[in-house]
Amino acid sequence: MIPFDFIYCRPDSMKEAADEYNKLQAEGKTAVYYAGGSETITMCRAGSIRPDAVIDIKNIPECAMLTIDGQTLHIGAACTLNQIKGSKAFPLLGLACGRIADHTNQCRITLGGNLCGTIIYRETSLPLMLSDADVTLYGPEGLRTAPFQSVFQGRMQLKPGEFVVQVHVPGWALHARCAHIKRTANEKIDYPLINVTAIWKDDLLRAAFTGICSHPFRSQEIEAVLNDRTVPCDMRAEKAAGLLPEPAYGDVEGSGEYRSFVLKNSLRALLEDSENGEI
Ligand SMILES: Cc1cc2nc3c(=O)[nH]c(=O)nc-3n(C[C@H](O)[C@H](O)[C@H](O)COP(=O)(O)OP(=O)(O)OC[C@H]3O[C@@H](n4cnc5c(N)ncnc54)[C@H](O)[C@@H]3O)c2cc1C
Repeated sequence: MIPFDFIYCRPDSMKEAADEYNKLQAEGKTAVYYAGGSETITMCRAGSIRPDAVIDIKNIPECAMLTIDGQTLHIGAACTLNQIKGSKAFPLLGLACGRIADHTNQCRITLGGNLCGTIIYRETSLPLMLSDADVTLYGPEGLRTAPFQSVFQGRMQLKPGEFVVQVHVPGWALHARCAHIKRTANEKIDYPLINVTAIWKDDLLRAAFTGICSHPFRSQEIEAVLNDRTVPCDMRAEKAAGLLPEPAYGDVEGSGEYRSFVLKNSLRALLEDSENGEI
């Protein structure tokens, strides 16, 4: 049970959503955007947030679409992980979606919710960081589209009142060679100890990570090491794992030391499989 009353709005357009947000704010009310609701409802029940209103974006057509237009794939922020996986439109993102939570929750959790939520892993961000994707946002100042990597720095850097409308993935990434490694401490559906997501463009490996640090990231320094084929795979893996942007993350699932160990082994396996033609 949610132990307080709140206003529920379900706008039919982007403008209506932003106008509603502005109106509530002008009345001194706090409002949050709402998609799958899995995190928002849990946090309301636990008392960690107490919004006066939720603005459900699922009825906004632009947020619900999933379509290929020419070469580019457009995915609405309100698409569920299961819809994205089932579409098979971007296999690497489909692999990420298929390893978050269980099937029941995948039918509810949305792309926008995973990117904007408070759970630190934000695993769907990795394929988007690697694929030269763009993101469209709508807020009090209207619509803007920007490179995903410029807006996502560990978490979405949204302006007040802004929400994610869509991501746009270029055609090359939809068919590129790719790999997705997620290691968990116990069950397959657990949060990641580490997630290494990779894609190749022009025969060069791009890699992004989550679980190993307190936020998802992509590092050009690490990619340069991984792509140096003059060095044996195990040495590249060892060196790359030493270039994290912050000390390895530790919690009850696994210490920083253990996560680093798992990362090194996963990177070595990734490089060996790639060079043996197994990816
Ligand atoms: C059982 C379970 C297991 C999980 N396992 C993993 C995991 O292994 N890896 C992982 O990465 N995550 C995992 N998650 C986290 C999950 O992806 C997030 O909790 C996500 O926020 C839920 O999405 P939602 O659509 O239900 O979000 P909601 O509850 O609707 O929203 C969550 C937050 O995002 C904001 N938001 C939602 N949509 C938008 C938008 N379009 N624009 C701006 N803000 C928006 C909301 O305001 C709110 O702050 C798990 C969650 C559950 C319930």
